[in-house]
Amino acid sequence: MASSLDSFLHDPTDPNALSVEERMKFEKWVAKILDKPAKISSMIEDALHEGMHSEWEAESANHKFRLGSYYPSMIERCLRQQAYSYTAPIPPSKEDLAIFGEGRAIHELIAIALRRSGLISVEGREVVVDLEFADGEAKLHGRIDDLLLIRITDEDSQDFKLFIPLEIKSIGTLPEEPKQAHYYQLSTYLLAKNFPIGVLLYWAKRGGGVKAFSIPKDDVMQIVLRERVFELHEALKQNLLPQKEASFNRDFVQCERCAYSERCNPFLIDSLPKGSKIAVFDVDSTMLDPLPRRRAAMQELGLSPSMRASDIHDKELRDKFWDLYNSPKYAELDLLIEQGKNDAYKQVESGRAIIGISSSRHDSMIEATKARLANLEVPLTHLIVRESGNYDTDITFKTKWALRLETNYEVAEYFDRDALASSEVLKSVQRHRQKKSTDPQGASS
Ligand code: SF4
Repeated sequence: MASSLDSFLHDPTDPNALSVEERMKFEKWVAKILDKPAKISSMIEDALHEGMHSEWEAESANHKFRLGSYYPSMIERCLRQQAYSYTAPIPPSKEDLAIFGEGRAIHELIAIALRRSGLISVEGREVVVDLEFADGEAKLHGRIDDLLLIRITDEDSQDFKLFIPLEIKSIGTLPEEPKQAHYYQLSTYLLAKNFPIGVLLYWAKRGGGVKAFSIPKDDVMQIVLRERVFELHEALKQNLLPQKEASFNRDFVQCERCAYSERCNPFLIDSLPKGSKIAVFDVDSTMLDPLPRRRAAMQELGLSPSMRASDIHDKELRDKFWDLYNSPKYAELDLLIEQGKNDAYKQVESGRAIIGISSSRHDSMIEATKARLANLEVPLTHLIVRESGNYDTDITFKTKWALRLETNYEVAEYFDRDALASSEVLKSVQRHRQKKSTDPQGASS
């Protein structure tokens, strides 16, 4: 809505040429502004947000979902997440809009810089590419950021020209190697147009560094991409949702960043109805004693069985120890802690489902640990272990999981011989419940 301030800003009249009456009005307006100077800055913020949103809207008008046409930039992501973003997308947040706008601005800047260099010519921008599967029933449809033309002279002074698709990514910090999602995207372009090589260019938003990776065409990717496209396509064709892929693969970092996590509910345990009461047991201090397993791993490395991992100073040897320690072959050595088993049965009698958690066991141990607990007749509904790439401390790991479980269940009891871990977990569950009772929306986010 236009305010008196808006009218003034759009008035081209020279304030010095105003009549006395008009000048008084003008001064009154100025006083009004000075009384609330924040109005000017918020007006600029609102205008910027509005402009960025309409820029995004104009861009998404070109991206209306059509069954059978999927985006190379998303194809590596969780299939369920992709399905949501095609069929019922959530409007972008302010942060998403900023990332989108920033990305576009950086693309512009890079194209200008490459042209100015005089070394490389930018032959095309936003070049449309389709990689079709099954005679066009489904395809990956995207746009190459920049198509570069490189001229190379060989030892015989012969000139060669090569088109190179360039995919630009602005990122917080430069990666050591290309991100898998970006590799999938660029591979799509290489396969679609039979380019022998492409380049992924990362631009660090902090520090302004750049890092480019040459990516040769990989024909195996044709099969990988085809499988992903068809898994998604077949589900959408039947109005179904594909599997909760990230949750199934225990890629919980992806779930935590997912805009659709509330809709998807990735922490719901299939075998346990929502609302159930649960008792959570720290496996390694209350159910299983892993000491014999540690000793066996030390012995296999030719070390004293009484040593601890922290006593191994050589990094390579320490890594070997952890690999052995997490090897399923030693799982049978874990000893039962009778008290834990008794406690678990008491909890079951009180109507609680038993959830085991271990921050020191990795993915590789999950099935072997379940089997060991089953052999020892410990009642267990679900087991949580550390997923690869998770470096949370023991307490953070347990606290995070207790809160995730609380989104669907009631953590009625928590068993851990580490008093500090126990108190931190219970305190954060309590805080979460208080927050939920006063702000149900905030607690679930
Ligand atoms: S929450 Fe996880 S499993 Fe669910 S859609 Fe998102 S990424 Fe996929």
